[in-house]
Amino acid sequence: MNKNTADILVCPKCQNDKALELAIDEERGEDVIAGTLACQDCENEYPITNGIARFVAVNDDYCENFGFQWQKWKDIQIDRLSGHSLSEKRFLGDSGWSPEWIKNKLILDGGCGAGRFSDVVAGHGAHVIACDLSSAIDACRETTLIHDGRVDCIQASLFELPFRQGTFDGVFCMGVIQHTPDPAMVIQSLPRHLKTGGKLAYNFYEKSIFCWGQFIKYGLRLFTRYMSVESTLRLSHFLVKLLFPITYFLAPIPKIRILNFFLPICASHSSELNKDQQLTWTLLDTFDWYGPRYEKRQRHWKVAQMLEAQGMIEVESRSGIVQAIQK
Ligand SMILES: [Zn+2]
Repeated sequence: MNKNTADILVCPKCQNDKALELAIDEERGEDVIAGTLACQDCENEYPITNGIARFVAVNDDYCENFGFQWQKWKDIQIDRLSGHSLSEKRFLGDSGWSPEWIKNKLILDGGCGAGRFSDVVAGHGAHVIACDLSSAIDACRETTLIHDGRVDCIQASLFELPFRQGTFDGVFCMGVIQHTPDPAMVIQSLPRHLKTGGKLAYNFYEKSIFCWGQFIKYGLRLFTRYMSVESTLRLSHFLVKLLFPITYFLAPIPKIRILNFFLPICASHSSELNKDQQLTWTLLDTFDWYGPRYEKRQRHWKVAQMLEAQGMIEVESRSGIVQAIQK
């Protein structure tokens, strides 16, 4: 964590405006590798280890599956490391932010996983605060070290973020909201970290009648959401081994490929990926289907309504995506 980042951190328990007291045990240039951040009002101290400020007690982690998956498959979705541009295309398309706007902005990535979008945004010249509840944050730190201090990794809950209000030029939360225990609270609380005129971008699973087509997935999820990561991984391997050859065969055939939607694996057959990468990505996404404790789909127009009710402006939404600006 960059020393200067301590200026925007506050105690997530007290939610006051007072700076945390930084004590450094180990540093490398501007990067604090080990130390503590202490609240001046309450008794809480937050450790910095492996260059990451940690605001999460170990037993707070309801998403062990995400920590596991992003450490196991930390490279495949990182454009720079896997030779594709899928993360960049998705980020720019879903956020509506231009590379010109991103440059030199202070951006919060709420729920960064292995850092696929933090890596894109830092690549366009932003300073990113990447935040995740799970141990995926360690994978994100490793991935984004190359950006020379422009990505700071913080382990924290979206329900108790340790940031001063009105800090960020942009806040995004991609593919995360539906996996939290209280999506509405996340949707409504993230905007307070934006400056006036700051941009918000959400991407989430849309609730629609078509979800019924994935009844096998949802039938299995009744059990898998309580299974150990090892058992979920074994199930994912089994399903992918069985069904990937079918989805791979069907994927290039127009109209017929719709059948893949009904199969209980999350097949990924982008032409930017070679066959091995498609297999890996499919295994990752299938594990990502079955592993999460929560999958609470949202309706984009309802999310937009919540943000408008809070006074956000230029709220635009379409299936699975909402963009807005802080007034
Ligand atoms: Zn405190």
